[in-house]
Amino acid sequence: MSSQGLIDPAAVAGVGLSGEEIRRYNRHLIMPEIGMVGQRKLKAASVLLIGAGGLGSPAAMYLAAAGVGRLGLIDYDTVDDSNLHRQIIHGTRDVGRSKLESARESIHDINPHVRVELYEVPLTSANALELFRPYDIIIDGTDNFPTRYLTNDACVLLGKPNVYGSIFRFEGQASVFHAAAGPCYRCLFPEPPPPGLVPSCAEGGVLGVLPGIIGTIQATEAIKLIVGIGQPLIGRLLLYDALAMTFDEIRLRKNPDCPACGEHPTITALIDYEQFCGMPAHDHSDYAARTNGGVPSITPGELKRRLDRGDDLLILDVREPEEWAISNLGGLGAVLIPMGQVLEHLDELDPAREIVVQCRSGGRSAAVILELQQRGFGKLLNLEGGINRWALEIDPSLLVY
Ligand code: ZN
Repeated sequence: MSSQGLIDPAAVAGVGLSGEEIRRYNRHLIMPEIGMVGQRKLKAASVLLIGAGGLGSPAAMYLAAAGVGRLGLIDYDTVDDSNLHRQIIHGTRDVGRSKLESARESIHDINPHVRVELYEVPLTSANALELFRPYDIIIDGTDNFPTRYLTNDACVLLGKPNVYGSIFRFEGQASVFHAAAGPCYRCLFPEPPPPGLVPSCAEGGVLGVLPGIIGTIQATEAIKLIVGIGQPLIGRLLLYDALAMTFDEIRLRKNPDCPACGEHPTITALIDYEQFCGMPAHDHSDYAARTNGGVPSITPGELKRRLDRGDDLLILDVREPEEWAISNLGGLGAVLIPMGQVLEHLDELDPAREIVVQCRSGGRSAAVILELQQRGFGKLLNLEGGINRWALEIDPSLLVY
C-alpha cells in the first residue's frame, strides 16, 4: 500500500472544507500528519461498518466525528435493553427501534456533514460483493463466524482492507487483514471452530467498555489507512486483556497455502458460510439454541413431564457459579459443574444414568455433550433453549438473563 493512503487523489482533489468544517476539525488540521490534505482525504473516504452493535457504535461515532465523508451501516436488528450497557450509539429511548435509524440519528447529531447509508438486510454471499464494492474500507463488527468468514473472503476478492475486531468477556483482539499487503483472516484461522465450542457474548458475557476499546482501535486503524500515516495493524494481531490491562501482539504471516489469499486460492467466489461454519449467521441470544445439530435434545415441556412421572434423570448444569446464583434448577436436583471443569469431574457422573445437560440457552451444553459422547457417555440430552427457556415455559419464578 502506498504511504499516500487508500484514497484516490482525484477524489481528494474534488473536495474542499467549508469555514464551519475548518473550525470543527481544527485539532486535526493543526497536526502536520493530518493537516488540510489528510482532512480532505477523510472527507473523500467511505467506510462500511458491518453491525451497528458493540464494536460498530464507537467505530461509527469516532469516524463520524473525525469527518469521514460517507459511512455505510449494515444491520437488521432492533435495539434491545440488553444492548445498552455497551452499544453506546443507542439510548434508552431507542429500545424497540431499528438500530440503523437510531445510529443514523446519533451520527448526524455528532456530525451533520457525514453521508450515512443504511442497509437493513442480513449480509449474505448474494449481496456482500455489491455492498462492499462502493466503500474504501470494511470494518468487521460482527460476532459470528459465518459473517466473519464471508467478510474476509469478500474483502480478499475485492482487494479491500478488512479492519477486524472481536471481543469476549474481558478480552479483545484487533487486526487489519489486507491481502494485498499482508495476511487475511483465513491465513490465521483456515477453518471455523466446531459449532457450540466457542460461546458467544450472549452466552459468556462481555464487559461493557470492552467493545468501546476495540471498536475505537478499529476506527483508529481506518483513519490511519485513509490518511496514510503510521504503521497499520497489517500482519499483527493485537491482544487486549482488560483485567490485566495489557496489550500484546502476535506477528502474523501470510500463509502461502491460504485458500483465500494464498498462491493457489481455491476460494474464487463466495460460498455458503452457514454450511461452512455449521451454524447460522445470527447474533441473537437464541442462536446457540439453534446450533445443536446432531446433539440429542429435550424440550423444557418434555423434561417437565418426565420429571413429574418420576423418571431417573440427572440435570447437569454447565454454567458458571455466577449464573447459577441468578437462576438454577437445584430444586430439581440439578448439579453444577462449569463447562471447563466437566472433564476433571467425569468420575462423579454415571454413564449408565440419563443426563440432561443444561446451560443458559443451549450452546455450551451442546458442546459438553459432544465431549462426553467421545468419552463413552451415551445417554445424554441437551435442554433446548437452556434454563432461560425453562423459565419462560415452565417456571416463571426464575429470572431470565
Ligand atoms: Zn489468507
